[in-house]
Amino acid sequence: MHSGQKQKLECALYVVATPIGNLRDISLRALDVLISADIIAAEDTRNTANLLMHYSIAANRLMALHQHNERAAAEKVIVLLARGQSVALVSDAGTPAISDPGAILVAEVRAAGYRVIPIPGANAALAALSAAGLAAPHFLFYGFLPNKSAARCRALQELIPLPYTLIFYEAPHRILECVTDLQSVFGDDRQIVFAREITKLFESIQQCSLAEALVWLNGDTNRQRGEFVLLVSGAATAQQEGLDADAEHVLAALLHELPLKQAVQLAVRITGAGRNELYQRALSLKSSA
Ligand code: SAM
Repeated sequence: MHSGQKQKLECALYVVATPIGNLRDISLRALDVLISADIIAAEDTRNTANLLMHYSIAANRLMALHQHNERAAAEKVIVLLARGQSVALVSDAGTPAISDPGAILVAEVRAAGYRVIPIPGANAALAALSAAGLAAPHFLFYGFLPNKSAARCRALQELIPLPYTLIFYEAPHRILECVTDLQSVFGDDRQIVFAREITKLFESIQQCSLAEALVWLNGDTNRQRGEFVLLVSGAATAQQEGLDADAEHVLAALLHELPLKQAVQLAVRITGAGRNELYQRALSLKSSA
């Protein structure tokens, strides 16, 4: 059923992105590499065998490479490369080495003088960002926060001044305590986007202010299930602070009288301020009203 093509691959380490849910989210080039590589180094060989089986690709070339054996496995991979073989690296889901094993292997392979070739594809953070609608031009990918609340709050405090959309991965059993800490450190006004079960059956993307986040999560226990990316809007920039002084007054007055979209449109015309900045400001004014 695969539509990849078997080919003679150059001797190299291929870092191959695999789906984060929907099995069709895999590139033709990734299939080519998975069909053709001499060895596939996989975070969980059973999980990858299932993916390969789904595409009718032979699953007899697998070796394990996970966080507990990465250095030893890297040595084996370098021996294979020295013999002129091609090795594909995959993780359980998404792009290897992004909150997943792989970076140590990549560093060692490159240090040993072999080529590392990325085969790009699915990544939960970027998929979430693309559908979040947070207009900030920059983002910071944080990945997993510490598990314990005190360490998590310390980590979050360092992020307070950053004017970038913040992207976190979080496990469902910690979602409530994590959001509690996000609110206690960042306050009520910032926007949060919950990107849950992306590309899967129960995919949902929900935006609200941090003040509303726990109420929303507690509104239905299903909202606390599955895999999450959390995106939190960044600190207001100097430019946005300027917006406060010049345009917020107009925007707030318009918001009293008009629906959000119209208020923003008129505020853009009256003040000449940026639509995106006014829109973000309108969202937070509305949520804190
Ligand atoms: N390497 C992966 C990538 O490229 O996104 C990330 C692996 S990390 C071990 C797993 C975390 O990614 C999950 O705990 C969750 O936060 C996020 N994640 C993975 N798949 C997801 C999905 N389908 N929907 C939402 N978040 C997802």
